[in-house]
Amino acid sequence: MHKIDIDLVEMTMDVMKYTIDRVSATKIKMGKPKKAAELKKLAGKTITSGGIGGEKAFKIWRKHLSKATVPIDHPRHLAFVPASPTRAAVIFDLVTSASSIHGAYWMEGAGGIFCENEAMSWIVSLTGLPKGAFGVFTSGGTAANLSAIITAREHWRENDAFKSEKGLIITSIGAHSSIKAMAKVADVDILLVDTEDILKGSALVECIKGLTEHQRKRLFAVVATGGTTNAGIIDDLDGIAKVCNEENLWFHVDAAYGGGALVADSVRYQFNGIEKADSITIDPHKWMFSPYDCGAVIYKEPELAKAAHAQEGSYLEIFKDEGAHGFNPSDYQIQLTRRVRGLPLWFSLATHGTDKYKEAVERGIELAQIAGKMIESMPHVELVRTPSLSCVLYRRLGWNPEDYRHWTYENQKKGFALVTPTKWKTGTTFETVSRFCFINPDTTEEDIKAILESMK
Ligand SMILES: *Cc1c(COP(=O)(O)O)cnc(C)c1O
Repeated sequence: MHKIDIDLVEMTMDVMKYTIDRVSATKIKMGKPKKAAELKKLAGKTITSGGIGGEKAFKIWRKHLSKATVPIDHPRHLAFVPASPTRAAVIFDLVTSASSIHGAYWMEGAGGIFCENEAMSWIVSLTGLPKGAFGVFTSGGTAANLSAIITAREHWRENDAFKSEKGLIITSIGAHSSIKAMAKVADVDILLVDTEDILKGSALVECIKGLTEHQRKRLFAVVATGGTTNAGIIDDLDGIAKVCNEENLWFHVDAAYGGGALVADSVRYQFNGIEKADSITIDPHKWMFSPYDCGAVIYKEPELAKAAHAQEGSYLEIFKDEGAHGFNPSDYQIQLTRRVRGLPLWFSLATHGTDKYKEAVERGIELAQIAGKMIESMPHVELVRTPSLSCVLYRRLGWNPEDYRHWTYENQKKGFALVTPTKWKTGTTFETVSRFCFINPDTTEEDIKAILESMK
């Protein structure tokens, strides 16, 4: 496969140049999607029996295809949960690929998995979970949530009384869509407490009281959110932990987006109770400045995850070398063959130190506060609620959903910004509103001001 020739060296130089240009750029273009048919026309036929050659393929990528993507780290990309991987992490992502590491088993991936585990130890330390707690990197929050809930269900089903029962979990409507998707995959029922605001322990108690006897028997877990994706709301983790403890329920905290804020002193207290979780999801590819894709699932008792997820195969029992015995990430989540996707995070943490992470996360929170004040000072916009973590929900007075959509579309078309509308539920009504989510510390106050003024 790897015949070293002049072409390969040149192609590598081309790729490095592209990468250097990209990571050192002070201004990046927004980019926007095109129809598949249009892209087909621009790209021409790329997969042929003889190959079109790396030079040509790369040219097509640079000239046409890369421009039909939105760089998530653009400072005026404030939609969904943006990301802004550090340069160190991006560069080491290339090293991760070049090193060709199988990240499933220590036997093959020891050096890489060691680095992942160093980074993981830091993440676990932020949660305050007791000694023995540990986690693995997954493809994202969805895979992390699924891995956690499968662990919870398998543990619950160890009891013969529940073996033939279909499980039931409780969460709130503020929970991320992946919780519902995951319940489908795991074939468990899901009950949603009807609040987009903080899910309180008392509301959970009420919900449990309202269950039929059979439903109560089937209930095995509660999913709380540590920073809702829509509004940055942190559930009453301590209150929910208490109820879970009393009711003997698995307590999962989905902090895929908000988990990065565990490092921020200004908001850490809002997560109190997370240290009592049975499992936690945190996405380093959201607020820990890691490139895609990198999620994480952490367990209070990793042995329970191993019992649920370890795959057995006769070809996997060959570890004779002493050095081959160690931590096998594949034993603790749903995926077998895996990239050592925690490696870029490790390199970036080692390069910058954890204080830099603290500063960068605090800046996101600060930007949300700044945006909130700006909104209060402008007559054409108004806050829907006080900014929470790095999320800001606000309305443009007099706009209907179509106005928001049109504004989003125009901004993206101009290559100016990507800010998308969302919905906020009060009582029984859903209102279309605008939303900022800040991750990138390079977003400036001028960026925010310009975006708000474009709504005039
Ligand atoms: C983003 C998000 C998820 C899903 O994570 P992916 O990495 O996109 O799979 C789950 N829960 C919350 C709260 C999220 O913000």
